Amino acid sequence: MGRALRALIFDGQISLTVMDTTDIVRQAIEFHKLSPLSAAALGRTLTAGTFMSLNLKNDGDKFSVTVKGNGVGGSIVVCGNSALEMRGMIDNPRAVLPLKPNGKLDVAGCVGTSGRITVLRDIGLKEPYGGSCPLVSGELAEDFAAYYTYSEQQPTAMSLGVRIGVDYDCVGAGGVVLQTMPGCEDKTIAAAEELIGNFANISGMIENYGLDGIAERYFKGVAFTEYFPKYKCICGREYIERVLLSMGEKELRDAVKEQGKIEVQCHFCDKKYTFSPEDVDKILGEARE
Ligand SMILES: [Zn+2]
Repeated sequence: MGRALRALIFDGQISLTVMDTTDIVRQAIEFHKLSPLSAAALGRTLTAGTFMSLNLKNDGDKFSVTVKGNGVGGSIVVCGNSALEMRGMIDNPRAVLPLKPNGKLDVAGCVGTSGRITVLRDIGLKEPYGGSCPLVSGELAEDFAAYYTYSEQQPTAMSLGVRIGVDYDCVGAGGVVLQTMPGCEDKTIAAAEELIGNFANISGMIENYGLDGIAERYFKGVAFTEYFPKYKCICGREYIERVLLSMGEKELRDAVKEQGKIEVQCHFCDKKYTFSPEDVDKILGEARE
């Protein structure tokens, strides 16, 4: 399970979120058999998504974010809900690029430096609403900060990181997010910008100190509220049946006739669902009732 700590700091002028998403990224690696580079790109997006989930206000609220760039990893999709259940996928789970000169994974090369972040929120209104923002750097933290600052008019500073160990396992992942509250003074914004500079290596800090160590070091005495986000896919046979029905009866019948069966693989957890011609008859029959 992941863990997040939230509090208001600087006399209530800045909201602070510190996240440990190591277990969420581990689960994503296990489901999708991710290369270290794909794990870093999807893991950072899952961490930004965890922050989005934490901001959902009502039970049943949910969101999806798509990062569509021109990098070798292709598009990344992350979804989450108010229960802090996260899931995600990347077009190319096995993306590989040479390390950058500083020895770090080339996340910008995986995501791309040109493209868009698009967010859709479903909070029980008639239509989902959302926003979109061009990619700034492809390293993702700056991109999500820009999304909040420009698309949602919510000045934001963010640090995201994923560390992959020698055996391709995630050894530390997380993020720090600072957002201004209404009435935030200029000098507080400057102080917040300085503060975020401490967390350039957030994944290494999570690995070495953990969330509590970070809180102790930088936020001594702050009263945090604690949250427990996790990776959880919402798919199930019934869910997949609804997706199949949305194809339309003729298309569904043609597909099962052609292939003898229909195989659907969930994009978020790679689970396979198989439907025989009899299954298809049954689904269509039930849909008519
Ligand atoms: Zn699934």
